[in-house]
Amino acid sequence: MRPRAIVVGSGAGGATAARALQETFDVAVLEAGGAFRPLSFDLGTIERLKRSHLVFDPRLIRVPFPATHARRTPQGMVLVNGSCVGGTTTIATGNGLRMDGDLRALGLDLDEEFEEIEREIPISTGHRRGWHATTRHLFDAFDELGLDPMPMPKMGEPDRCRHCGRCVLGCPEGAKWDARRFVKDAVRLGARVVTRSKVERLVLEGGAATGVVAREGLWRRFHPADVVVLAAGGFGTPPILERSGISCDPTLFVDPVLTVAGRRSRAWQSKEIEMPFVAQRDGFILSPYFDWLSYLMEPTWEAPAPDLVGVMIKIADSSAGTVSPTSVQKGLSPVDQARMDEGVALCREILLRFGVEDGKTFPGTLNAGHPGGTVPLTAADVGTMHPSRLPENVYVADASLLPSALGNPPILTIVAIAKRVARVCAEQVAVAR
Ligand SMILES: Cc1cc2nc3c(=O)[nH]c(=O)nc-3n(C[C@H](O)[C@H](O)[C@H](O)COP(=O)(O)OP(=O)(O)OC[C@H]3O[C@@H](n4cnc5c(N)ncnc54)[C@H](O)[C@@H]3O)c2cc1C
Ligand code: SF4
Repeated sequence: MRPRAIVVGSGAGGATAARALQETFDVAVLEAGGAFRPLSFDLGTIERLKRSHLVFDPRLIRVPFPATHARRTPQGMVLVNGSCVGGTTTIATGNGLRMDGDLRALGLDLDEEFEEIEREIPISTGHRRGWHATTRHLFDAFDELGLDPMPMPKMGEPDRCRHCGRCVLGCPEGAKWDARRFVKDAVRLGARVVTRSKVERLVLEGGAATGVVAREGLWRRFHPADVVVLAAGGFGTPPILERSGISCDPTLFVDPVLTVAGRRSRAWQSKEIEMPFVAQRDGFILSPYFDWLSYLMEPTWEAPAPDLVGVMIKIADSSAGTVSPTSVQKGLSPVDQARMDEGVALCREILLRFGVEDGKTFPGTLNAGHPGGTVPLTAADVGTMHPSRLPENVYVADASLLPSALGNPPILTIVAIAKRVARVCAEQVAVAR
């Protein structure tokens, strides 16, 4: 009989781990959410929803769009993640950048994994061929300011992209790669996916896990396992560990984002691929972005959407924040705030050069969606991919392992880490048998 592996979560890390582990194990993926459905509302309905002021609390976004979970920290930051098959990748903008510099500094060489990824995930800047006038003009504005803009590598098939601007609402064309493709592969190989199964804790006996307990509807169910791989994401994995008596570090990072917008008649950025290009700065990035969250939440972001143009700042924040089973504590440190202020000033300059009236720019909602860092890998863990706080047959394969904020798209790096975790985990089991 093959050994049994439970993978908790089906996002970037979980889907990758499940697909790789199914070669050695009988894999069951336990996923708290259900099947992913894109938001089906057209622009008119979204504008009516905005004008109704019904979405006064970010948690209410779940009502029309169950895959997206958003809530505000006591410090005022809105945290966003996906809860569905495919995890947060389903509501990502498809950016695919290799960002493993800090891991390499620890001694972790992921070249082999990234070579595999190149063969498995289509990544290109071919979307550039379809850029609308607004994007081309913004690119020129970035360029004139010496910001060295680069077309963003996107995961997916550019020829199928219709530049509809709905990447974070769920790609209606299937042009954007998301982790559901890896979940499908895992299922084809024999893995099982149990949806609406929210893992609460590990069941531990003598320093090892015998399985997990998950909440499924009104019931709690025990799922036995020989190996457990936690990939519930930066907000999901720490509560499971904490409930199992294993503490996580108060080193949460989230890559905070602020979009500064201005008004320019019929700019139609709302119908353009999100984040078409990027400018890398010291500790933050700048990229054009129509921010649907700010559009829904902020009264200053007045309808109609086609008249708004935004540029986002995404910073690599300090590793200072906590995730517990009941709350997330996260705000901006003084260093983070300084980076954000520098970015805001640059966004204003860009928008001015683009043609937005001076003094007529306004910030959006401070939000974040790249959580991680509470079970950080150290140089000592690189060989085993197994932080010593974990029980012997429990692994983590998500952003929680990242040692510091990337301030950049993390999916590809998480996929690479999860591939390595799965490989090491399979080797360990082979040795033990
Ligand atoms: C709006 C937005 C746009 C983004 N765009 C990009 C982008 O373009 N490129 C990029 O690289 N990154 C992007 N990101 C970030 C990226 O999507 C995430 O960092 C990445 O998906 C995290 O991978 P993960 O495996 O750690 O967790 P996730 O992908 O979040 O997966 C975790 C999964 O675990 C499930 N889960 C949670 N708790 C439990 C539990 N107790 N039991 C069972 N299941 C559980 C969740 O439902 C979820 O499906 C974006 C994020 C957001 C919010
Ligand atoms: S712009 Fe539209 S078609 Fe293109 S990737 Fe985004 S959601 Fe898909």
